[in-house]
Amino acid sequence: MILTDCTVVDSDGEREADVRLRDGRIAEVGDVDGTDETYDCGGGFVVPGIIDCHVHLVSECLPTNRHGDDRMRWYRVVENLRDSLAAGVTTVRDLNAPDACVIDAGRAVERGMVEGPRVVACGQGVCCTGGHFSGSCREADGVAEVRRAVREQIERGAEVVKLMATSSAYSSSEGGQEMTRDEIEAAVRVASMKGVPVAAHAEGREGVVAAAEAGVDSVEHAKYADEEAMRAVADNDAFWVPTFKPTRMSLRNHEKFSDGKLEKAERVVELQKRGARLADEHGVRVAAGSDAGTSYNYHGANPEELELMARYGLDERTVLDAATSNAAELLGIDDEVGYVREGYAADLLVLSGNPLEDASNWQKQELVLKDGEVVA
Ligand SMILES: [Zn+2]
Repeated sequence: MILTDCTVVDSDGEREADVRLRDGRIAEVGDVDGTDETYDCGGGFVVPGIIDCHVHLVSECLPTNRHGDDRMRWYRVVENLRDSLAAGVTTVRDLNAPDACVIDAGRAVERGMVEGPRVVACGQGVCCTGGHFSGSCREADGVAEVRRAVREQIERGAEVVKLMATSSAYSSSEGGQEMTRDEIEAAVRVASMKGVPVAAHAEGREGVVAAAEAGVDSVEHAKYADEEAMRAVADNDAFWVPTFKPTRMSLRNHEKFSDGKLEKAERVVELQKRGARLADEHGVRVAAGSDAGTSYNYHGANPEELELMARYGLDERTVLDAATSNAAELLGIDDEVGYVREGYAADLLVLSGNPLEDASNWQKQELVLKDGEVVA
């Protein structure tokens, strides 16, 4: 198939070009002619498929915000995978499930048994006893136990390790640190021996600094990150995955939450906007993550995160990189996806508007291709 009458937009730049697809790959980008079937993009924009670096595929997206261990979770994962792909998300990184179910679902996608995005999954996150999401995470205390917990996930097939370095901003300790610097460092060390990157849930500033200095690959959320914390993220070359959607969805469904939580949510939005400004000032590299699976934050509505990123102060070019090239680099698959380049997997979207002019155009999808197949 040849995509014609389009502008290609990716982190390599913006250019008028046709795109020839063959055997699930991008065969040619440029002035393409030939007798292949053509798809007329009608002046649209061809971009890489969205890579969402932070989702929870087992979740029902209810206000209880649990990563369900009920017996329906397998089917929910399948449904959520299908909805994600239909929304132009061609790769997801899952950051906590109660067992190996999402790792296994990713294998089922690879084998063609289930329709969905490429999956990079952590298995269970690792938290301290009674820590953040202790109901579904693997609890571990002390360096030796944390090493063991990390190695267990890698043995199960985890392609990323998730640490719960702090509590939630909405808990009484307001994102207070829960894993020690030693524990985080130990996790990073044993994961890196296996070439597996580490993602740290870190909301309070101390936890953000500890995680960044311990060498994690990405700091998730970082709501309370001040100037010093964002500088630590930049200096240690970690990615920031902001996840603006959960708080926005709470505010949008305000009747379901207490006044106290909503007041906090209003403050969090201001902190997130400060985070965006500080990230920009300090050259922090951003990767996109919707945290789909939190309350009312449905799988399939992921692309709205990109609009929020721009609305909170990140420019459209940063948003593009965050959802494509930076995300691919964070996941260690930037030789495969994240660009419209010859030889890359044909995970592509055709958008009716330019995402560099308005990040909401990521939601105006005319066509979704994964491995060269039209999936939506
Ligand atoms: Zn999350």
